[in-house]
Amino acid sequence: MTRIPATGAPADAILAALQARKQGDRDWRHGRLAVYFYWLDEELERVQQQAYLAYWTENNLGQRAFPSLKSLEDEVIAMALSLLGGGDKAGGTFTSGGSESIFLAMMAARNRARARRGTRQPNIVLPNSAHLTFDRAAEALGMEIRRVPVGADLRADVVAMQARMDGDTVALVGSAPNYPFGTFDPIAQIAALAAQHGAWMHVDACVGGFLAPYVRRLGHDIPAFELSVPGVTSMSADIHKHGMAPKGASLLLVADAADREWHKFDSRAWQRGPYSAYTTQGTRPGGAVAAAWAAMNHLGDEGYLRCARLIMEAKAIMTAGIAAIPGLDILQPSDIGIFVWRASDPTLDIGKVAAALDAEGWLVGRQQEPDGIHLHLNPIHREVAGEYVEAVSRAVAAARGGQNSRIGANERTY
Ligand SMILES: *Cc1c(COP(=O)(O)O)cnc(C)c1O
Repeated sequence: MTRIPATGAPADAILAALQARKQGDRDWRHGRLAVYFYWLDEELERVQQQAYLAYWTENNLGQRAFPSLKSLEDEVIAMALSLLGGGDKAGGTFTSGGSESIFLAMMAARNRARARRGTRQPNIVLPNSAHLTFDRAAEALGMEIRRVPVGADLRADVVAMQARMDGDTVALVGSAPNYPFGTFDPIAQIAALAAQHGAWMHVDACVGGFLAPYVRRLGHDIPAFELSVPGVTSMSADIHKHGMAPKGASLLLVADAADREWHKFDSRAWQRGPYSAYTTQGTRPGGAVAAAWAAMNHLGDEGYLRCARLIMEAKAIMTAGIAAIPGLDILQPSDIGIFVWRASDPTLDIGKVAAALDAEGWLVGRQQEPDGIHLHLNPIHREVAGEYVEAVSRAVAAARGGQNSRIGANERTY
């Protein structure tokens, strides 16, 4: 059994041991993954690391002691609100990640409906492309989840969503974009429907919040999804995704700051004194806030535009290259740097193609529906886009060659 060692090892040995452990991990620095990480360049990496280290042990629960963290957090929220359509009344909360942002939004929707309408058996209606973390939140919060199949255009079917609503529906959800397909739901229509019924409308822009506005500025067609869309109540946007900050940084933004009160915990039932919090956390890492602030200020609009351009260029190279390989096609539509490719030729076994790619060191993201391969690009993929297409081409040849290259039994879809 592994235990805490009786005597500790010297610092150098410990740090070397960690570096040695990492050797078997996938090579994200060379773009071999299209999931889990975001990387632009060494300068941004240095800014992220040094900023995090500058606040490596400060606790962001203690803003009385660390007023600088409050000011950094307030500026991060204000910058995000100005990017994402927040008006004069808007507000926001810095959280640990998209799952927490979404949990808080669903809790707020539940609490508001309970207080205002006496709702006892709340339900949430959402497209089935929405992230599973909504189901996790619903389970913890005692809410029913109603997943509605997306239309043939891979976007939320608003008419079908309406049909699943009833007097106990407390929230509607749309993604901007969703993770499986990278498509935007018709946010304006979902928000209008929510407003009609007095329901909370949450826009899940976890993956799109810090990318989509810049992709739009490059001239791509991105529908309105911002807080300014009438009927939108809240939005999740992850700074630790395309905001290019280290892990542990997301935002829950609200069109009306008064709605933050619905996800506030406030109690005096303790000897130690009153305790209140807008998140699910107690102790919060100050480094995450400092590094998010640093990444945003280091990149600026210009840096984010550069990221968006690199991603969309990588996507154009990859999708054109893959579509040109006989037997493959790209699932359409796809609005942003997320796409799925698959076998259009029924005799081609995509599992074998995936295994061949995996054997070359490319971590493969298997999509279940439709059976295919999922990519979520970040700026580094611009450098390896051509290499990836060549690897796919070789993998298809290997799969057709009938080599036994079964996908591992432990392969996860995500
Ligand atoms: C990543 C993601 C989430 C969850 O965010 P985490 O930071 O992984 O908890 C939710 N929705 C979408 C669309 C995402 O891409």
